[in-house]
Amino acid sequence: MEIEKFRTIAPQLLVNEPMSKHTTFRIGGAADMYVSADSAEQVAALAGAAKETGTPLTVIGNGSNMLVGDGGIRGLVIEIGAGMSDISVNGSVITAGAGALLSRVAAEAAKASLSGLEPVSGIPGTLGGGLYMNAGAYGGELKNVVRSVTYTGADGDIKTIDNAACCFGYRKSIFSDGGMYIVSAELELTPGNEEDIRAAMADYNKRRSDKQPLSYPSAGSTFKRPEGYFAGALIEGAGLKGASVGGAAVSEKHAGFIINTGGATASDVLELIGYVQRKVKDKFGVELEPEIRLIGEK
Ligand SMILES: Cc1cc2nc3c(=O)[nH]c(=O)nc-3n(C[C@H](O)[C@H](O)[C@H](O)COP(=O)(O)OP(=O)(O)OC[C@H]3O[C@@H](n4cnc5c(N)ncnc54)[C@H](O)[C@@H]3O)c2cc1C
Repeated sequence: MEIEKFRTIAPQLLVNEPMSKHTTFRIGGAADMYVSADSAEQVAALAGAAKETGTPLTVIGNGSNMLVGDGGIRGLVIEIGAGMSDISVNGSVITAGAGALLSRVAAEAAKASLSGLEPVSGIPGTLGGGLYMNAGAYGGELKNVVRSVTYTGADGDIKTIDNAACCFGYRKSIFSDGGMYIVSAELELTPGNEEDIRAAMADYNKRRSDKQPLSYPSAGSTFKRPEGYFAGALIEGAGLKGASVGGAAVSEKHAGFIINTGGATASDVLELIGYVQRKVKDKFGVELEPEIRLIGEK
């Protein structure tokens, strides 16, 4: 590993950094090298150096939709987070760094009386992670408000594409294919009434805290919504609420969530995912597909 080469580009580089510190599941072995990036140019230079040296590269945001293996992540992890989180408002357009948390972007929108982000305001990820996944909730999705997205890659270019070119679909986008690292985006919102916007956000957040096990570490809904069903209802219907392996358990509050009740390992979670998939398949004939991204080594 050419640690010094990467450190020249990013002096803040950390070695053997536990991923449990950077995921909302609070699970995961160490990344060989970890950089919380501070600019688009730094991301581009690191990606270029990774390509040149044959170093595996993983880009993350707030780590709220992933399960990192207990064996950790080989090569370099770049976090696009607080160092790239500036937000500015111009008329009805918000420009934000990909590292800005969706909740912060939504709060700025409310302050500027701009509507459109209410349904996604409680999703605990970054704007970049949200665009990669086309995150959505309560009938809204990021696709509905994106004007353009700026990204970079190993070739060092920084390019901007419009909404149509992002190919947004259900929990996917052109970025889901990998190799395109989102550095910022422009969102086009609709002028509204600040009080109404804040009331809608508070309502969505209350619905979340009423239904979701937010007091435990998790990565949100474990499985994608299967066509014609709800994953949580199938899991509950198979009698799996509270089922556990080691420190991982199917939430009693919402069966669609696997939670870390304390000291769960990634292998506990993977075993529980497999168990739930088998039981639901046996009982209902439905294949559950994980929504959380499995990253790194087991
Ligand atoms: C309690 C809870 C509730 C949740 N509720 C919802 C919900 O209602 N709706 C929903 O859609 N999701 C939900 N999630 C899941 C998660 O918050 C979203 O998927 C979020 O958009 C992920 O953003 P992130 O920054 O944490 O991405 P990460 O988990 O860090 O990364 C997710 C994927 O995106 C890639 N990625 C991240 N940043 C970038 C970037 N800048 N450029 C390129 N690729 C990138 C990563 O490589 C990874 O493959 C929930 C999660 C939790 C813990």
